Amino acid sequence: MTYLGAHLSSGKGFYKMGQTALAIGANTFAFFCRNPRGSKAKAVDPEDLARLRRLLEEHAFGPLVAHAPYIMNPCSKDEGIRRLAAEMMAGDLQLMEHLPGNYYNFHPGSHVGQGPETGCRMVAEMLNAVLRPEQQTVVLLETMAGKGSELGGSFEELRQILDQVDLQDRVGVCLDTCHISDAGYDVAGHLEAVLEEFDRVIGLGRLKACHINDSLNGVGSRKDRHARIGEGTLGLEGILQVIRHPSLKGLPFILETPTDDAGHGEEIALLRRALGECQREEWKK
Ligand code: FE
Ligand code: FE
Ligand code: ZN
Repeated sequence: MTYLGAHLSSGKGFYKMGQTALAIGANTFAFFCRNPRGSKAKAVDPEDLARLRRLLEEHAFGPLVAHAPYIMNPCSKDEGIRRLAAEMMAGDLQLMEHLPGNYYNFHPGSHVGQGPETGCRMVAEMLNAVLRPEQQTVVLLETMAGKGSELGGSFEELRQILDQVDLQDRVGVCLDTCHISDAGYDVAGHLEAVLEEFDRVIGLGRLKACHINDSLNGVGSRKDRHARIGEGTLGLEGILQVIRHPSLKGLPFILETPTDDAGHGEEIALLRRALGECQREEWKK
């Protein structure tokens, strides 16, 4: 069974979020550990997290892919903002210890005039300050669309960051189909070549998760505007070939398309039908 899911809200608690995942036919999902627009973390409720852990086990979920807050910028010019980024990540990773064995994904950030080299160094510095050898979460750098001075719009930049990280087995990459297409990698038209390049520059062994989003814009547009599956320039087939690719087998595939939980449920059903898989309610029959 392919690990398919969507970004869900943790606002009503973690166990509730697991129930929502079940209701929409997901067997993985993404979430923010805290309010996505604020830096304030909510108090950790170990019992709530333990209930989610049991639910995930019972229902054979694949790895989850938590998402760092959008406001985090680990390569800001401002030292205070960089420190805040490190604090947020450290706090989130502490929460993630209650959900061991999953992923935590973040945007490398925008270097705003400092240059990609300095930016990459700063991101690696944050990771080296925050990552602990005993932590049970692998932190993922997300491939970005490369708008403005955003880092991660090329595989080379992600490689540059990874190369400077001390704890190599605690870092990986999350590939976002909308982002890489917008960044200039023709994921829908030339998937084989794009994955070959990923392998050459970063190494496919580093790829731990995928965000499956269609894109409103064309290859190389550098826009980062997600579309629902089949309603963008990648198309249903473009997304399906990613999910079906043998090199990506077993990865969690997460929808971040502009719709609600019910809409994501429809997309998951659509993808499972196309993959020839039954829906969640039929699994146990
Ligand atoms: Fe993201
Ligand atoms: Fe994404
Ligand atoms: Zn995006």
